[in-house]
Amino acid sequence: MILTLNNDIPMPALGFGVFQTPPDVTTDAVLAALQTGYRLIDTAAAYGNEREVGEAIRRSGLPREEVFIETKVWISDYGYDQTLHAFDKSAGKLGVEQIDLFILHQALPSRFDLTLEAYRALETLLADGKVRAIGVSNFMPEHLEALMKQATVLPAVNQVEVHPYFTQPGVQDADADRGILTQAWSPIGGITSYRGTGTSTFDDPTIAAIAQAHAKTPAQVMIRWHLQEGRCAIPKSVRPERIAENFDVFDLELTTDELATLGALDTGTRGGPEPTDITLENFGRPIPEA
Ligand code: NDP
Repeated sequence: MILTLNNDIPMPALGFGVFQTPPDVTTDAVLAALQTGYRLIDTAAAYGNEREVGEAIRRSGLPREEVFIETKVWISDYGYDQTLHAFDKSAGKLGVEQIDLFILHQALPSRFDLTLEAYRALETLLADGKVRAIGVSNFMPEHLEALMKQATVLPAVNQVEVHPYFTQPGVQDADADRGILTQAWSPIGGITSYRGTGTSTFDDPTIAAIAQAHAKTPAQVMIRWHLQEGRCAIPKSVRPERIAENFDVFDLELTTDELATLGALDTGTRGGPEPTDITLENFGRPIPEA
């Protein structure tokens, strides 16, 4: 299943994430994903595993153009020259000449000037052909609005937390109104399990009932929900059997009622950090050279 970004670049609707995947298991996990059929890998400078992602892509033997690579600039590298250099660091670690989708990991509301300069660098990288598409992550509607007062290129993607317990309809609408693709992070609600205190999406009885009705698993139902709603989803796992399970969703069709039921599980409670709270002081940390 392929989505077309707002600059006509095709991108797989289902990708593979590597947040919290330790470097020493990243190559095996990404290799398993590529062998399973995933063709979109989502990493970030801040994950510390870009080198191992690049290694897996090379080891897979797949032609470079068959794998869509997405990575993110960390806030400590915001600023025009710094962000141009962040591309060199990421591309160097990945071992590629060109990155398919290069995005700003967070808005930096207290230093939006730096955020704007970072985005201006993305525009330059796009014009120079070093990246094929640019985007943002964790941008709230007000951040998109402030960005578009200065930017000349619309972000192709806004990667935000979306799972049945936190659906962010306001962000999704703001993206859709502008023609920005919403890409769901923690798409199966991993964060409700590894950071949560109550029931996780994996143990939710409503999701379990829908899964049972289709002889599928809760993770498969949640992934299918994203795809049928037009979102890109990037589930993460380090286990080969789950990597395969999360890709085995193309023979499943949820009904309109089931899609609505899943959306209605929204609790309005975010699992990740409040985007407006991100500051260099609290979240800044140096990203090593390639
Ligand atoms: P996910 O919703 O992908 O869930 C991953 C968690 O669920 C892991 O703990 C994993 O454990 C477990 N899991 C995976 N598959 C299954 C399954 N089939 N059944 C039960 N449990 C399963 O959460 P993430 O937060 O990892 O988000 C996915 C990706 O999104 C990240 O890897 C990253 O690329 C991106 N992301 C981006 C953020 C941003 O700020 N832009 C923030 C967070 C994530 P195990 O590995 O042991 O299988």
